[in-house]
Amino acid sequence: MNSCQPTFQRIGMLGGTFDPVHLGHLRSAVELHEALGLERLHMIPAPQPPLRGEPRVAPQTRLALLQAGIGDTPGLVADDRELRRAGPSYSADTLAELRDQYGDQARLVMVVGHDAFLKLAQWHAPQRLFELAHVVVIDRPGYNDPLPEGLRELLGEREVDSVSELMKRAKGSLLRLSLPSRMAISATGIRHRLAASQSVRYLVPEAVERLIIQKALYRDE
Ligand code: ATP
Repeated sequence: MNSCQPTFQRIGMLGGTFDPVHLGHLRSAVELHEALGLERLHMIPAPQPPLRGEPRVAPQTRLALLQAGIGDTPGLVADDRELRRAGPSYSADTLAELRDQYGDQARLVMVVGHDAFLKLAQWHAPQRLFELAHVVVIDRPGYNDPLPEGLRELLGEREVDSVSELMKRAKGSLLRLSLPSRMAISATGIRHRLAASQSVRYLVPEAVERLIIQKALYRDE
């Protein structure tokens, strides 16, 4: 019987530029919340992600778009902790904060899309990510390149093949998930559409579309 086994909090983190947040992020977040049985999924905008160019829109505006997009969705939280931190913001530091907040036993999961996963070995202190959390990789249409050698070395024998296997430990494993509603939506595509005065209806939540129009965001390439 499983009824005597202790249950531990399950907490997720989905970092990103969210420039702007779109339904690819939000639908994935809802399905992750369900598939992993999370209490909470922290969606955390990065002020200036180290491995990419300057975001198009200011951090506080991207946060406002994220808040509007999440609205009252149960279990999803727009978390501004990286915007409040001075200096570069690394996911390892964010996970360390979440680990302190939720304690050693919490099942802490960092979620990345397959495109971001392919660059994981180039992140700041990649080994530390696994010392603090599990990593869950979600499929993204259009991204299925094989894993680079450095990444395969980093992963070693960490991969597990089910959520129940992942949740046996607090951290340290990798799970690849294929969520039901894979969406070929990208923030880049949305920025291009807006710069060309094309519609983004049903690519972003209506509240996000309204804010983008109201603030005249992403009008130029
Ligand atoms: P851009 O086009 O500007 O690079 P993006 O659409 O990839 O942006 P990010 O904010 O960079 O959005 O993504 C944050 C996280 O969400 C990353 O881990 C990314 O892989 C994942 N992600 C983004 N879009 C999708 C999607 N459509 N399906 C699944 N995961 C996604």
